[in-house]
Amino acid sequence: MSARRKRKTPARGWPVAAAGVFLAVFCFWYAMFKLVEAMDAREGTMLLATGYCNCGECCGWTRGEDGVAVYSYGEMKGRPKEIGRTSGGTIAKHGTIAADPAVFPHGTVIRVPGYGEGVVEDVGGAIKGNHIDLWFPSHGAAKRWGARRVKCIVREPMPNAAKAR
Ligand SMILES: [Zn+2]
Repeated sequence: MSARRKRKTPARGWPVAAAGVFLAVFCFWYAMFKLVEAMDAREGTMLLATGYCNCGECCGWTRGEDGVAVYSYGEMKGRPKEIGRTSGGTIAKHGTIAADPAVFPHGTVIRVPGYGEGVVEDVGGAIKGNHIDLWFPSHGAAKRWGARRVKCIVREPMPNAAKAR
């Protein structure tokens, strides 16, 4: 009969072997990829980090006719505001972080790449969920930080964090 019908075992065997090797390599690579992904997820929490300072624009206060600082909006509107005092009662400084207390309670330690380690001591009307606000000594410095998505190390349990994701 025709030679075309003859099986050419070596010619068929190589592609199968190559596909097998490719599949094995792919599975190994995929497993490693997933492993690294899982380790990353455990090591860091992706947060939106913005910057703020003590100014009226950042902290929602304005000066009345007598020069006294008062809250400019919210349920405290018109009430005296102590500039630079956090909701936790501490003096705002580098390392002060404002966060959603339902996600990161006061006292939570968060290491923020590019900023350093800080402690949640403050809250903010617009700071909800996995969004934190970092204190800077000037409005310019806060603006220069801008808004960044950074992988942070959270050093205290945050039982409600999953809800906010
Ligand atoms: Zn400011």
